Amino acid sequence: SIHHLEYPPSPEQMDWSTHFPTYFAPPPSEGEGSPSLKGKKVEFADVGCGFGGLSISLAPLFPDTLMLGLEIRVQVTQYVSDKIRALRLNPGSVDPDNADDVAAAAADAAGQPVAKRQKVEASEDSASGKLAPVRGIKPELMPPEGYAYGNVSVLRANAMKFLPNFFEKGQLSKIFFLFPDPHFKQRKHKARIISPTLLAEYAYVLRPGGLLYTITDVPDLHQWMTGHIGAFPLFHRLTEDEIDNLGLEGGEGVEGQSGSELQRVRERAVMEAVKRRTEEGKKVERNQGGKEWSVWRRLPDPE
Ligand code: SAM
Repeated sequence: SIHHLEYPPSPEQMDWSTHFPTYFAPPPSEGEGSPSLKGKKVEFADVGCGFGGLSISLAPLFPDTLMLGLEIRVQVTQYVSDKIRALRLNPGSVDPDNADDVAAAAADAAGQPVAKRQKVEASEDSASGKLAPVRGIKPELMPPEGYAYGNVSVLRANAMKFLPNFFEKGQLSKIFFLFPDPHFKQRKHKARIISPTLLAEYAYVLRPGGLLYTITDVPDLHQWMTGHIGAFPLFHRLTEDEIDNLGLEGGEGVEGQSGSELQRVRERAVMEAVKRRTEEGKKVERNQGGKEWSVWRRLPDPE
C-alpha cells in the first residue's frame, strides 16, 4: 500500500546505489548493502524536505558531499525525484533558479566582490554537456566540469521513525529541519518533528561538531524547538556572530585559496538556502512573513 515504508534493518544493509549510482555499486546479493565506490556516505539530511529546494540548491556548491532529502509524502517525493533525474539527464546543468543565486548571495554576504548573476541563457555549452558559465561567480564555487547532480537524492521515509536505520552513529555533518509542520493544537504537539525522544536520535546520527538547523515562520514552534533543543545536553546554540563566522575554523582547502575562505562562503550559502531557497521559505517571503532560525552544534559525547 502507499502507507508501506521501506527501510533497511541497519545502515550497512541500505542500498544506496539506486540513489547515488556514481557513488555506490549495486548490492552483491539481496539483503546486503551497496559497496561504496568513492568512500563517501550521505552527510547532509534535509528532514521533511518538501519540494527539495534546499538540497537541490546546495548540491552543486558541495559537489563532493552526498545529500539526501527525506519526505513522507509519496507524490512530493516523486516530484523531487523526477526533478533530480531531469537535472542529471542534462549534464552540466546548474539549476539557474537555485545554486548560482545562492552562491552569489553568499559571496555577497561574505563581502566578496561578486557581481549579481546575469540570466544564463541556454548556451551551446550546455548543449555540448559543458558547464554553462555562471557569470559573477568565483570559479572555485562552480562545480567541476561534468557535474550532474549525482550527489543529491530524495528518499521517501518517516524521519520520525527510522533515521538510525539509514544513518550510522555520527554519519551526518548537517541535519536540517526547515519549516516543519507546526501541528498547532496542544494535543498534536507530540507529532512535532522536534521532541526530546527524537532529539536523542538526531544527536546519534549527527557527528560531534556537526550542525543542526531549524527555521520556521511560526513563533510558537520556534519557541518549542529552541526550548527542547536547548534543554538537550548535546547541543550548543550558535550566536548570530558564530553563524556568520561558520567555516572560518578551516576545513578542506582548495588549491590557491585558503580553505577557510571557501568554507566560509559555502557556509554562508547554506544559511542563504536555509532562509530563502526552500519552497516554504519562498512562500513566507512572498507573504512577507517573519522567519526565526537557530543553528546548533553537536557537542562531543561526555566521557
Ligand atoms: N522543508 C520544506 C520547505 O521548507 O519547503 C518543506 C516544509 S513542509 C511545511 C513540511 C514537510 O515535512 C512536508 O512536505 C511533510 O510532508 C514533511 N513531513 C512531515 N512529517 C514528516 C516525517 N515524519 N518524515 C518525513 N517528512 C515529513
